[in-house]
Amino acid sequence: MRIYVDFDDVLCETARHLTGLARDMFGRQVAYEAISAFDLRQAFSLSEAEIDELMEHAHRTDFLAGIMPVPGGVEAVDSMTAKGHDLVVVTGRPASSHAGSKAWLRQHGLGWLDLVHVDKYGRADLKTQDGSPRTLGLWEFDAMDFDLAIEDSPAALDILAKRKDCSVIVFDRPWNKAYRHALNMRRAFSWQEIMEMVDGV
Ligand SMILES: [Mg+2]
Repeated sequence: MRIYVDFDDVLCETARHLTGLARDMFGRQVAYEAISAFDLRQAFSLSEAEIDELMEHAHRTDFLAGIMPVPGGVEAVDSMTAKGHDLVVVTGRPASSHAGSKAWLRQHGLGWLDLVHVDKYGRADLKTQDGSPRTLGLWEFDAMDFDLAIEDSPAALDILAKRKDCSVIVFDRPWNKAYRHALNMRRAFSWQEIMEMVDGV
């Protein structure tokens, strides 16, 4: 199977680290479990300028390097690849974070994984930037085939909901608890559960 794997909060614990960053930069004390909105500006009560500053910091290579992997995720990627599946990391991170994102994958023994940037949130600069691959527009993403996708963000799940031939695993997170699943979706609470689902597809 060709499998789409999201990066933030599927492969690595980004939101947990961002709660620490919002606390250190702006004194916001928001527990990870209390992040009920995927919009971090809203979740951390930040101004437009503050969220821009937070996200700029969050995409720096040194910050990315410190983000912990989601338990079992790295092993699951290895195991699914060993079983012959073709995995692609599909991220909504800006292409300017490509080198730092690849460095994180290398750091965790996954440097060989394909990493594509897609404008999941309709806010990316689609022009090529120095040394980074271009961010793909949604029309280009629509032309890519996947049999299975693993994703946590409600906005990205909405995009995947239209796919008839793609099963979607919703990785359980506080901000997607109330998400209404489309017919192609199931929820998983851990990578172990995802592995069992992949074996059953
Ligand atoms: Mg995500």
